[in-house]
Amino acid sequence: MNSATRVAAVRRDPLANDLSSISAHNAAFLARRHKLLIDNEWTDASTGQTFEVRDPSSDEVITHAALGERADVDRAVAAARIAFENSEWSRMKPVDRERMLHRLADLIERNADEIAELEAVDNGKSIVMARHVDVKHAIEVWRYMAGWPTKLEGQTLPVSGTLVPGQEYVAYSHREPIGVVGAIIAWNFPFLLATWKLAPALAAGCTVVLKPAEETPLTALRLGELAIEAGLPRGVLNIVTGMGPTAGAALASHPGVDKITFTGSTEVGRLIVQAAAGNLKKVTVELGGKSPAIVFDDADLEAAIPGVASAIFFNQGQVCCAGSRLYVAEQHYDRVVGGLVEQARALKVGPSLDPAMQLGPLVSAVQRERVMRYVNEGFSAGARAATGGRAVDARGYYVEPTVFTDVADEMSIVREEIFGPVVTVKPFSDLEAVARTANDSIYGLGASIWTRDVRRVFALAPKLRAGTVWVNCHNVLDAAMPFGGYKQSGWGRELGREAVYSCLESKSLCINFAG
Ligand code: ADP
Repeated sequence: MNSATRVAAVRRDPLANDLSSISAHNAAFLARRHKLLIDNEWTDASTGQTFEVRDPSSDEVITHAALGERADVDRAVAAARIAFENSEWSRMKPVDRERMLHRLADLIERNADEIAELEAVDNGKSIVMARHVDVKHAIEVWRYMAGWPTKLEGQTLPVSGTLVPGQEYVAYSHREPIGVVGAIIAWNFPFLLATWKLAPALAAGCTVVLKPAEETPLTALRLGELAIEAGLPRGVLNIVTGMGPTAGAALASHPGVDKITFTGSTEVGRLIVQAAAGNLKKVTVELGGKSPAIVFDDADLEAAIPGVASAIFFNQGQVCCAGSRLYVAEQHYDRVVGGLVEQARALKVGPSLDPAMQLGPLVSAVQRERVMRYVNEGFSAGARAATGGRAVDARGYYVEPTVFTDVADEMSIVREEIFGPVVTVKPFSDLEAVARTANDSIYGLGASIWTRDVRRVFALAPKLRAGTVWVNCHNVLDAAMPFGGYKQSGWGRELGREAVYSCLESKSLCINFAG
């Protein structure tokens, strides 16, 4: 090796993280071989096998997690069932359950910086975003859901009771936890999605088996540690890391699970629904999207241009409600495309631990391949990249932010969920036409309208077949605001009252007090 190549070999890849700088706690965490959490014990997978966990900014293996399979899911469900039946958790006084969930929120808050750092290393997302979006929002969701146990009221029912003469009835209904909840989540917001699933289920008094995504198991395991520290009784939260078609499928089809809640692709969502049919589990699925962003001629372009850029480029476009189809009033088309291209080119590409980074790597080599397949299909179909269109030449899984123009409605880049930093832009002429185009999708998760005219908001919003319609913003989520999809974007809602109620059964009690 001559001296020039020796320098090259030791020079750090500028798009890779410098893991020597991470906190001592996370360094120790990564140095461990991770285990499953079953019945408040950390345990190896029954096969003893593990799988590799990689840093998306360098493709380097950073740790190993236990490869849970069917037998481990059986153990976890059995522990969750016993914990549910012994009722320490489900019948705990509401005020005590509330206090314990707040204690967990306190612990998350106290460890927020380290959780964000771990999330960044595991997922490739910006450490700054992980702290100020993922972990911050997760704390808000834990606190919001912690407030519910003391507010789950029933109703007295004005029954007439006419079917059997001479009887007098008093009837009321109340809510009871559904039982054991199986939660299977995607990799794009690992800590946040674990929170979206666990917080309402635990607030409702359910016990849970969580299967994190195989790409990003780490912060869920950290959450498990904190849950034990907060004092959650045995078996209330169980975590089985492993692959989707084995551990995930075993959980979705398990006869001991009463409800399955899933976030991921529409294809897998369909498998989950089929697997749940065996014992007719209750099902919540939050799936794919192809959300339109619609910029009217009266929009404040100073705000709309960065707004629609962030709608697609935030989290590298790996957001189920990302604004991946942009429709612009024709008179502003050139200006908005120009502005968007400028925004895309200005994004600082970098590794997840670089606080100045604005566009990081995708989560995996598989995901980069999938995104590039779509980009190439776009080119083959005749679309033009106003900017981007290439993978970055690096060991990490980076793809250039890409703005496609000259697109047609039937192209796969317009119809299918890409889940990467790729947006298609098309001009429109009138509200009715853009409403039709916006709804021309199998998905219906989100949509945004950019205008200063409230009449347009009220004319268009009711026509949009989407679970959330944002006005002059996009991707805004709140613990109190239900989130979910129309059409093939899912069943049910996350967050808000609806998420808690989806983990509860309604029981009617009818008392005959005649004679
Ligand atoms: P993506 O395509 O974005 O990786 P997936 O929908 O494949 O998302 O994965 C989301 C979650 O679903 C992950 O936790 C994954 O392990 C799980 N999963 C994948 N396939 C199955 C399956 N057949 N049954 C149950 N879970 C699955």
